[in-house]
Amino acid sequence: MSDGTHTRYEPAAVEARRQAAWRERDAFRTPPPAEDQAHVYIKPSAPFTSGNVHIGHVRSYSIGDAYARFRRARGDAVLFAFGFDAFGLPAELGAIAGGEPPSDWVARCAAHMTGQLRRLGFSLDWERSFLSSDAVMYRWSQWLFLELLEAGLIYHGTGNVDWCDNCQTTLASIQVEPGGTCWRCHGPVRLIQLPQWYLRISAYVQENDRRLEELAASGIWDDVALSSQEIVLGRVDGVELDLHSPDGAQLTVFTPHADALAQARFVVMSARHPDADEWASAPGVHEQLEQLRSGGWERGSREAETIPVIDTGRVVLAPDGTGLPVLVSPLVDSRFGPTVALGVPTHDRTDEVIARRLGFELADGGGGDSAAAGSGESDAGANGASADGASASAGGRQAVRYKAFDWVISRQRSWGTPIPIVYCERCGTVPVPREQLPVVLPLDIRPTGAGNPLAELEAFVNTTCPSCGEPARRETDTLDCHFDALWLWVPACVPPEAREEPLEEIFALPDLRHWLPSERLVAGSDSGNFVFDQRIVTKALRDIGPLAFLADGEPFAGCLFHEMVTADGRKMSKHLGNVVDPDALVERYGADTVRLAVLYAASPQKSLNWSDSAVLRCHRFLGQVWEYSHTRLAQARQERERTARVGPGEDAGEQVRDTTEHLRLKLSQWCEAGVGRITKDMESLEMHSAVRNVMRLFDRIKDFEQRVVAREGQLGAANLDALVEALAVLAQTLGPLAPHLAEELWVAFGHDEGTAQTPWPGVSFQVPA
Ligand SMILES: [Zn+2]
Ligand SMILES: [Zn+2]
Repeated sequence: MSDGTHTRYEPAAVEARRQAAWRERDAFRTPPPAEDQAHVYIKPSAPFTSGNVHIGHVRSYSIGDAYARFRRARGDAVLFAFGFDAFGLPAELGAIAGGEPPSDWVARCAAHMTGQLRRLGFSLDWERSFLSSDAVMYRWSQWLFLELLEAGLIYHGTGNVDWCDNCQTTLASIQVEPGGTCWRCHGPVRLIQLPQWYLRISAYVQENDRRLEELAASGIWDDVALSSQEIVLGRVDGVELDLHSPDGAQLTVFTPHADALAQARFVVMSARHPDADEWASAPGVHEQLEQLRSGGWERGSREAETIPVIDTGRVVLAPDGTGLPVLVSPLVDSRFGPTVALGVPTHDRTDEVIARRLGFELADGGGGDSAAAGSGESDAGANGASADGASASAGGRQAVRYKAFDWVISRQRSWGTPIPIVYCERCGTVPVPREQLPVVLPLDIRPTGAGNPLAELEAFVNTTCPSCGEPARRETDTLDCHFDALWLWVPACVPPEAREEPLEEIFALPDLRHWLPSERLVAGSDSGNFVFDQRIVTKALRDIGPLAFLADGEPFAGCLFHEMVTADGRKMSKHLGNVVDPDALVERYGADTVRLAVLYAASPQKSLNWSDSAVLRCHRFLGQVWEYSHTRLAQARQERERTARVGPGEDAGEQVRDTTEHLRLKLSQWCEAGVGRITKDMESLEMHSAVRNVMRLFDRIKDFEQRVVAREGQLGAANLDALVEALAVLAQTLGPLAPHLAEELWVAFGHDEGTAQTPWPGVSFQVPA
């Protein structure tokens, strides 16, 4: 307990006392659904069990926690919990490096990271946290797989997959870096052909597009999050034309250059286009297509220069009768998805490169290098467009293409959710019945980094067919951890004691309807793909039934994406030796300082370039608040005791009160205005601004004291009381930002230890213009 004599700020002691008090009163337990209370589910990102909490995590959870504490302080019911994303390559490689089974590795990581996050004082409901690799949890993946399979949204196909030789695994397109390298090892990525399971996101891509406007209108999707959804979507507007080959075969061709149809020189088709085999069927050509699909070409950074382009030897006729060669190349996918695009070298750099590589004539005079030739062409183009406009609208129609497309959800690795499929010689591909879930992953597997040990484990592979009872073999691919992420945001909504129930019953609980959609997702700006796919699957589960109550199919009503923490403008990495260790900072300065510093240093939308000066500034600030508050509180008590003894009548304090009343009024106005500003900041998750406004409020309070002392030479009882009152307001506004110190002060000011955290100042405030 603080007795007023502890005027020196000792964060370790303060934080230990508060954290014990929080545990004691179970402060962050999620309240049961009650309709008469405003309630919000604030969704933090699901951390990979990668080893340690890093400073980027600290940033993310400091923002989310400040918001969660702010909402609780205002009397709202808050769900703030996450599950660890424990399957997948990072954990598998960590286990390989540590020479232990992945299940041991992730359990150790989760325990360690939980300890780190607890030491930072984040108000997460730990009762509701979980590991996605626990059987009771990964049955969600298996259940979801069966639901989507039944709805035709998962399909088995043979297809091109990105393959990393280093990691010996397939990669989802979102795991391939923009330069065409592996997200994990940064090595080259090849395209090969394998049987795979796909998620048909294309079924909901258009709805995700349509909803963007509503999300923007909500005002609680920040710009970074919104633009991430647009980028993943990759919408391209244009026109499509039905062109024909001389022998009558039809090909629908897309182009974003509706004004340049006359400049088309070829058409280029995705190797994933359903008609690619038909168009590339000529002897010699089909072999090239097969090689392109399976031969393992590398994805270089200079894509257009190096990626294979196959000339099928066939042509389609442009509206003006010109023959356009039909090419096949993956170069179309990255621009327009798995479609056919008109090649317009004068308008598109990639098309220009293709034309050059194949020696096509570009336009009149060819090269177009000189300015004169260039402008001449564009004049011709403009004239042509008006002339062709009529014929284009006759043959062309408005059309949209999306880069977002179905992705591979299966992996040839052992540390993942087993896919609930059995292959039977008699019955074919048989889904495992839901009542037999979970299909349990053997835990004694020791991956070495090569191949798939699950496929070599006879005890797992050999089973009986659920349909006919004959011997059968299990699917040995596992689900990509991106598939787990599709549901990871849901289970935190139900109390842990309900977690063992069948999923149908979990979905029938009132809890999901109560907490969903999540009021706010707070995650790193690299989460765009996860969120996009979570939005897709929510729409699928809405239509299938379990999430039918989410009419717009949106899991997150609001979304805040923050940028990462950098050092000297570069990404932190062990390799560069510029990693900031949060544990060391907490040890030295305390959790409140570290949290306040990451909030103070930059707005969430800006990358935070780490410097110790923010830590020092915030540490000094908290130390001053602590010492100032305690000394003035002690003074006010002494003054009160003194006036109680002497009696107020003949005391000099009476005069002080008279001549400083306008200053006390000013102080209360400053407090009101400050709280108004900070409230607005907290509502819009502008924590960096909130911290500044709290600092400003503290300056105002000190300014008040200086003015009174300048006038009267001392504070006196009434002004000390006013000062203490203002300091209590300061503590309240610090509650979400530096919660240990704030609550300790709040208690020192005589407030009830038993109440749930520092309440928000309960006045309605006018914000001055
Ligand atoms: Zn790799
Ligand atoms: Zn069978």
